[in-house]
Amino acid sequence: MSATSALAAELVAVCGEPHVFWRPEDVVVFEYDAGFDRRPPTAVVVPGTAAEVAACVRAARRAGLAVVPRGAGTGLSGGTIACGDALVISTSRLRRILEIDPVSRVAVVEPGVPNLAISEEARAHGLFFAPDPASQRVSSIGGNIGTNAGGPHALRYGSIVNHVLGVEVALPSGELATFGGPAPDLPGYDCVPLIVGSEGTLGIVTKAWLRLLPIAEDVRTFLALFHDVRAGASAASAIIARGIVPAAMEMLDRTTIRAVNEAFDVRLSEEAGSLLLVELEGLREETAAAAEDIVRICEAAGAFGIQVAADAARRDLLWKARKLGYPALARIKPNSYIHDAVVPRSKLPDVLDQVNRVAGRYGFIVANMFHIGDGNLHPLLLFDARTDPIERVMKASGEILKVAIDAGGTLSGEHGIGIEKNHFMFWVYGPEDLEAMQRARMAFDPEGGMNPGKVFPGGDACASIPTERIKKALAEGLWI
Ligand SMILES: Cc1cc2nc3c(=O)[nH]c(=O)nc-3n(C[C@H](O)[C@H](O)[C@H](O)COP(=O)(O)OP(=O)(O)OC[C@H]3O[C@@H](n4cnc5c(N)ncnc54)[C@H](O)[C@@H]3O)c2cc1C
Repeated sequence: MSATSALAAELVAVCGEPHVFWRPEDVVVFEYDAGFDRRPPTAVVVPGTAAEVAACVRAARRAGLAVVPRGAGTGLSGGTIACGDALVISTSRLRRILEIDPVSRVAVVEPGVPNLAISEEARAHGLFFAPDPASQRVSSIGGNIGTNAGGPHALRYGSIVNHVLGVEVALPSGELATFGGPAPDLPGYDCVPLIVGSEGTLGIVTKAWLRLLPIAEDVRTFLALFHDVRAGASAASAIIARGIVPAAMEMLDRTTIRAVNEAFDVRLSEEAGSLLLVELEGLREETAAAAEDIVRICEAAGAFGIQVAADAARRDLLWKARKLGYPALARIKPNSYIHDAVVPRSKLPDVLDQVNRVAGRYGFIVANMFHIGDGNLHPLLLFDARTDPIERVMKASGEILKVAIDAGGTLSGEHGIGIEKNHFMFWVYGPEDLEAMQRARMAFDPEGGMNPGKVFPGGDACASIPTERIKKALAEGLWI
């Protein structure tokens, strides 16, 4: 019996035959997520309980395999790609909402629950779960916790780390541990924020206690068009400088506006060089006063075609352009590559100019549709993988990342580091910083078997992934 067959037999004994995959034709669908990198795992198991997750971790350890946690696989930084021999543990059967406690305003959920399902379940109690990644219909709470996901409304409510009260985790040793819970204050070390955003390197979240918020009394949404990005960005800065914290503030550039116009019947002015979408939430008096300020500020910055929606139907219409952006852009080219670097808001117009110049130099179309409120850029390079060499796409992307870092920005606002940007960590951290983080990781995982090759630079764990060589060379400045 080969080592893989022996492990498979052990996993079948734990989870049942239908939930274990090891034949190449079965594991091939686990070789990718929504990012760029590809590599099939050795085996995949889909446990049905936390105890089964822990037993699978122990089985992998005994077999000398690494463990890769996987939620819905919508990650954009290769966090679920197996580096070397690895067992993927999927949470897709752990999809129960265990409790909604409207008095304590806490939801208790399994990790495979899709993000949006929590707000849908809590709505009957006048509550919602604030973190709203654009992938929220599909992406799992475990994956959202793994990446510290954000979303349009992170501007007012913060990313998911602000909404996780506790986690139960299958540790790399195969034991189950619990940090935090429904009560807000904890004695001892607060491990919850360490685990949030650790990209599955410290363990597998098997249960989460999440904070629910009351649905706002009033919501107002505005759409304003500007002749260029600079005017829209200056309005966005003036709104924040006025002391207003919108729930969301998004920008679309000319390329995206045109794509949406061409693909769908939204009829935005062809004159528009940028579009600002602003949403306010709060008490009626609060939003009414802020609304007047926002219209004044946008007009002063040269806005035209300002539309205001105070009811849900009109609001959905205004969000249409934003939500249809990706499908519209997909009609221009079949493939795209997105980064999510964050830059200081004051640097946005200059950084966007430079991003456009880099893309132009390589002959790529770039579209920008992003969370301007917190400076979280999303430059989307459009290309055709059948004709555009991947090296050129990655080179252009590396240069774009460098522009953001040089402007005082950082690598990622929400998508995580994974294997996509681990080599670039040297660009933002010194060796001592990285060493301290590695030591924290090793306190949980001294053998380094939990999602190896992710987050941290260096190491040969991922050397067999074809795109690895290109990223390493870029990070070392060989091509830039
Ligand atoms: C169209 C689209 C739009 C997107 N929009 C946004 C957005 O607005 N904001 C945003 O932040 N992201 C966005 N993303 C990226 C992605 O959806 C998020 O990173 C999301 O949090 C990933 O969730 P997932 O369940 O798919 O996780 P996966 O891709 O399966 O995993 C992501 C990471 O989390 C780890 N992980 C998964 N489950 C667990 C667990 N139970 N315990 C510990 N670690 C775990 C994995 O090992 C991996 O490192 C978008 C992606 C797409 C394709």
